[in-house]
This record gives sequence, C-alpha cells and structure tokens, in this order.
Amino acid sequence: MTLLARHGDSARVVAGGTDLLVEYSKGRCRAPILVDVTRIPQLNRLDLTDGRLVIGAAVTHARLATSELLSRAAPLLSQAAWQIGSPQVRNRGTIGGSLGTASPSGDCLPPLAALDAEVEIAGPDGRRLLPLAQFMLGPKRTALREGDLIVAVRCLPLPPGAGSAYLKFGLRQGRSIAVASAAVIVGLSDGRVDLARIALGAVSPRIGRAEAAERSLLGQPAGVLAWAAAAQLAAESAVPISDVRGTAGYRRHLARVLVERRPGAGRGGGRAGRARRGASLHPRRGAGRASIAAGPAPPRRRDLCRERPLRPLARRREPVPAARAA
Ligand SMILES: Cc1cc2nc3c(=O)[nH]c(=O)nc-3n(C[C@H](O)[C@H](O)[C@H](O)COP(=O)(O)OP(=O)(O)OC[C@H]3O[C@@H](n4cnc5c(N)ncnc54)[C@H](O)[C@@H]3O)c2cc1C
Repeated sequence: MTLLARHGDSARVVAGGTDLLVEYSKGRCRAPILVDVTRIPQLNRLDLTDGRLVIGAAVTHARLATSELLSRAAPLLSQAAWQIGSPQVRNRGTIGGSLGTASPSGDCLPPLAALDAEVEIAGPDGRRLLPLAQFMLGPKRTALREGDLIVAVRCLPLPPGAGSAYLKFGLRQGRSIAVASAAVIVGLSDGRVDLARIALGAVSPRIGRAEAAERSLLGQPAGVLAWAAAAQLAAESAVPISDVRGTAGYRRHLARVLVERRPGAGRGGGRAGRARRGASLHPRRGAGRASIAAGPAPPRRRDLCRERPLRPLARRREPVPAARAA
C-alpha cells in the first residue's frame, strides 16, 4: 500500500501478469513500476470465516479449480476456473487479476455474480466492501481508485441442497475465450423453485444477473416449460455485441440455450455428448465444434499432475555438427 501511495499512477499492481504483460507488449500500459502482490499472505487465503467464503485476490485459478472447500461450498466457481485458458494460465492467473481486468468474458465473474459476491478493497482511506455489480463498471473498467488494492472476494456458500453450474461456450475445446457463458444456482422446496440466480457472461458490457428470468422461476415446478420461459427472458435481458467470435444474435441465442441447460439437465455422456444434447448450440445447424461443460467436473488425476508451478526451462544447447566437433 505504501508503494502504491508513493508512486501514484506510475505504479501498477501485478499478480499473475497474464493480462498485464499483454497490455505492456501492446503498448497500452507504460507504468514504469510494478508492485507484485502475489506473496502477501492475506491475499492468498481461501477459507470459510464466520459462515462466509473468503477468497484472497492472489488465489490462482489452479487453486480455485482444485480446492476441496470450493468443490463443496461453491462448485460453480471451481468449474469456471477449471475452464480458464491452459494449465500455465491457470497456474499464474488470479481471481484478483480477473476482477482487475473486468472483462465481460472473464470466466470467474458470472459465478461470482450468481454467488452475490462482494469485493474487499484496501485503499488510502481504509477498507471498503463493494457488491460486484458496483465494482464492475464496464469492459476493463472498475470502481478501483488510485492506490487501491483488491484484497479478497467474499460470498456466502451455496445453501444445502442447492444445485449450480457454470456453462461456457467457446469456439474450441481449449484456451478459448467465452462467446457466451452462464452461471446458474437453483434450489427446490417441495418440487418448486425457491432459489434462482442466473448470471450471464460475454453477452453484455457488464456481467449481470437475469433478474426477470430469476423472478419467473420462483414458486414454479422445476420443469422444462418453466426453464424454457426463464431462458427466453434471460436471453432478452442480454445486450450483446457482434465481434470476431460471434454476432449479437448468435450470442443471444447461446444465452438462451445455456440457461436452458440448467444444473442437472442433460448430464453425463462426456463433453461431446453434452454439447449435442438438448437445445442446439447453433441456430440452424445444431451443435458445432463447441466446448461446453456442465455439472461438476472433478479434475482428473492426470490433469492435476500438470497443475504445478512452472519451473524455468533448462537452457537447451545447440547440437554440435559432427565435422566441427571433430
Ligand atoms: C493465453 C491466455 C488465455 C486466457 N484464457 C482465459 C480464459 O479462458 N478465461 C478467462 O477468464 N481469462 C483468460 N485469460 C485472461 C487472464 O488469464 C485472466 O483475466 C487472469 O485471471 C488475470 O489474472 P492475473 O493474475 O494474471 O492478472 P494480472 O495480469 O496480473 O492483472 C490484471 C489486472 O488486474 C490488476 N490487478 C491484479 N491483481 C490486483 C489486485 N490484487 N488489486 C488491484 N488490481 C489488481 C492489474 O493491475 C491489472 O490491471 C487468458 C489469458 C491468456 C494470456
């Protein structure tokens, strides 16, 4: 905090650097001083304190994806972290960095919105807690002020018996940025919906909750018809853009399809099977080569082995041609 206060706008906070270094390489950031926050113990906590989940800003996506605590208390956040980039990006990238970048396609953000998360910020005037909706102001715009540091994200764990899912549609299986995504939490009482939270990603400038869709579900029997109507309302609440990854119309269509694939619907049968089941991911031709994952996807042992901190590569020597060697 002292360093940030001393250097003002000449300093930037860096965590994993997976977004910030891209900004430097494109010449969008020229701050001469970087303040590395990854070794501050308070920013590395991941625990349940006084009934609330506290996730330090420097917790990596790899830790979110493999945390035993999160797999019980907020499995949709683990699922989202598991779908970020590649093992290298998950090992370096942090939840604080995702919040700092505030990209509408950031995978952790819809689950945090569905979990009603609050962002804890330390600044020159002390600490404050901001609801996520007030923290994220637009693409790459946040409520952070000069000298501010994101300390942690706080939210309540899922209530007992509630189901949840994070669903992402990307243009290929790995390292794909979401074209559309949805985080859904649902709870039932006597066969009727008594808890419904739906957050959409990559279909609006800000990650937002589909409140009309949530309201339409409350008190309804949890059947296909209620979900189809809610999915339609969710799609209507989106304000998508057209870009290289998809048109606005396609994104709106995806929002509807992803919400219709609520927790527990169309499970099993592997990724390809899931992508083909239920409503089509393509408006005309059916599911394409999309990657879509739903329901708890516990990391496989083989994958966990790859989630280790990177070691520097040993310098490779040029082979000496036989003639010169002689
Ligand atoms: C190849 C590649 C693939 C990717 N794929 C995905 C993907 O599939 N899904 C996805 O969501 N993202 C993806 N990303 C984006 C990126 O990995 C995430 O946004 C990541 O979480 C950023 O975290 P970081 O720790 O690296 O942030 P950094 O790059 O260190 O920082 C990002 C921003 O946040 C600020 N910041 C960081 N920590 C704090 C803090 N504690 N307080 C205040 N400000 C802070 C920094 O100043 C900077 O402005 C990808 C990136 C790459 C390079």
